[in-house]
Amino acid sequence: MPAEARAGQRVVYLRDRDDGQRMKDVIYVHPPSYKGAEFQNPAGLPRPVVAGLPFPWVTPMGDSGPLFREVERVKAELCRRLWGCQVCGNDLDTTAWVALERPEDGSPVITSAAIHRACLSLAVEHCPVLGDAANNYAFTEVFEDDIAAAADEGRHEGAPKARWYLRPVSETPRPDRMRTFLSLRQVLERS
Ligand SMILES: [Zn+2]
Repeated sequence: MPAEARAGQRVVYLRDRDDGQRMKDVIYVHPPSYKGAEFQNPAGLPRPVVAGLPFPWVTPMGDSGPLFREVERVKAELCRRLWGCQVCGNDLDTTAWVALERPEDGSPVITSAAIHRACLSLAVEHCPVLGDAANNYAFTEVFEDDIAAAADEGRHEGAPKARWYLRPVSETPRPDRMRTFLSLRQVLERS
């Protein structure tokens, strides 16, 4: 294959991890590079610091630097299917956190996947989308079956494409549960 055809190409495959985590290592056949070195972006904490910022597990490395506003589709899909954290890449606990378009049942879920509580603090402090108060996102703690695949309708213009929505609590196995919706400021205060 000519070098031009490989530029920017990311062939990935999964490798079993030896630490018992259900999430898998993602191996690049043609790894992206940063400052001349291969950049594999392994799962776990602490996150690598790139260009002065913690580098999320689902964030792609571009040909000329980090693409902080983009999400690596394969990794986001892995997180959704295997209940993994989009920030650190490790397995989530029984509950995790998501960002919502609106603080209510049925809202589209804005985050590509769910996030550990500690990783949410990291995300709202550094992510230009989640940490932007102008977006008025709400944050809530969810069980895995609190969120379901979404149709694409119902999102507001400019918002990241919502692939999940928050199931109404009455339709979940915990219909009496009280949901709490936090604002960005409340999440930052609890960090
Ligand atoms: Zn995490």
